[in-house]
Amino acid sequence: MDVDYTVSTDVLIIGGGGAGVKAGIEAASRGAQTLMVTKQKFGYTGSTFYPGTSGWGMNAVIFPGDTEDQFVAEILEAGAGCADPQLARVLARDCTKRFHELERYGLEFLKNEAGAYQGVIPCFGKRLRGSATYGIPTIRKRLWKQLMIHGVQVRDHVAILKLVVEQGVCRGALGLDEMDNLVLFQAKATILATGGACGLYQYSLATDDQVGEGYALALEAGCSVVNLEFIQFIPGITWPVKKMLFQEKNLDTLPTMTNREGRAILADYLPAGVSVEACLIERAKHGPFSTTTCSRYFDIAMYEQWRAGLALDSGGIHMQYAPTVLNDERWVITKWLEFMRSRGLDVVGQGFDMIPHAQCFNGGIRIGT
Ligand SMILES: Cc1cc2nc3c(=O)[nH]c(=O)nc-3n(C[C@H](O)[C@H](O)[C@H](O)COP(=O)(O)OP(=O)(O)OC[C@H]3O[C@@H](n4cnc5c(N)ncnc54)[C@H](O)[C@@H]3O)c2cc1C
Repeated sequence: MDVDYTVSTDVLIIGGGGAGVKAGIEAASRGAQTLMVTKQKFGYTGSTFYPGTSGWGMNAVIFPGDTEDQFVAEILEAGAGCADPQLARVLARDCTKRFHELERYGLEFLKNEAGAYQGVIPCFGKRLRGSATYGIPTIRKRLWKQLMIHGVQVRDHVAILKLVVEQGVCRGALGLDEMDNLVLFQAKATILATGGACGLYQYSLATDDQVGEGYALALEAGCSVVNLEFIQFIPGITWPVKKMLFQEKNLDTLPTMTNREGRAILADYLPAGVSVEACLIERAKHGPFSTTTCSRYFDIAMYEQWRAGLALDSGGIHMQYAPTVLNDERWVITKWLEFMRSRGLDVVGQGFDMIPHAQCFNGGIRIGT
């Protein structure tokens, strides 16, 4: 292959999501010349800046009675043997520092009138842990500002095709720029922050640059990958907009789920002793699908109806809410309704369709080998 031109840097970061941004800030603040390359326009793609969601919920040990050890225990329990205890410890140890770091960058986490954080019980968590910040455009603007302040150079529309490995050491990468030039990026250190591969699925909450190229780059360079089958599936909207994240917290208001024949479907999938109400209330506690409680019948019902050809033309099952949801004063509900309205959705009038979507790859390149 003929290289069209060469670029040299101390640290090359491949990927411009949250992982790449943090790596960039850390490298540059230690004095390294740092170059970040992203496949598409910075701030508009990847999970970090996913356009079909209202913002971020972020874990942090900030409420009385919560501890790092409890957080680790809850991650390991939810991971059911797949989670790496060392990585769980890193997350539990560092998340609170990162939460406050983001505040210093100007992100505002939701607070009540008394100035206290509006707490969130995270998916599969047992207690309040962290809060939420809204508005992807604001998040994008604040993180970009930090990259600029720290002197990280960002080049978007560069697709990395191959890592350059000599005698077992990564010396950089080969990439294609926006003019189809083949570029050799020479670097003393290369950081892969290329995200997951949900874009491979028919229904996904992913942008089209999320197809797991980083896994292929790493494998080809001699690394190993782990837990790639550890994927989160979560309901996503298929009509009247597509690829928008559903907010499960409202399920305890007991909406109806109907198929293309207009028939309510959930009761058909429930075993004796599990009511529609119990299933929906349990399902309101976590975004991703889980096999561990009776909430599973909610997702199974949608998927089985889809397999039987009984979904609507959009591919989804129809959801309809009672007008009482409009009077629900819980902040998670009012924020959800606000976001739905901002995208032109009327949950009480026309309702919407949805189906499980691939949301997150929880495995990835094995660290430390
Ligand atoms: C809808 C949705 C809601 C979520 N909500 C939450 C939440 O509330 N709280 C939470 O903690 N987590 C949430 N997550 C998960 C979280 O967003 C991700 O775990 C996180 O953003 C991943 O960041 P990342 O930097 O690893 O990857 P990404 O943000 O996906 O970034 C990957 C980057 O790599 C680039 N790239 C890929 N291949 C190449 C290549 N070959 N060459 C160059 N660049 C490449 C992409 O262009 C992109 O810039 C959510 C995810 C989704 C999809």
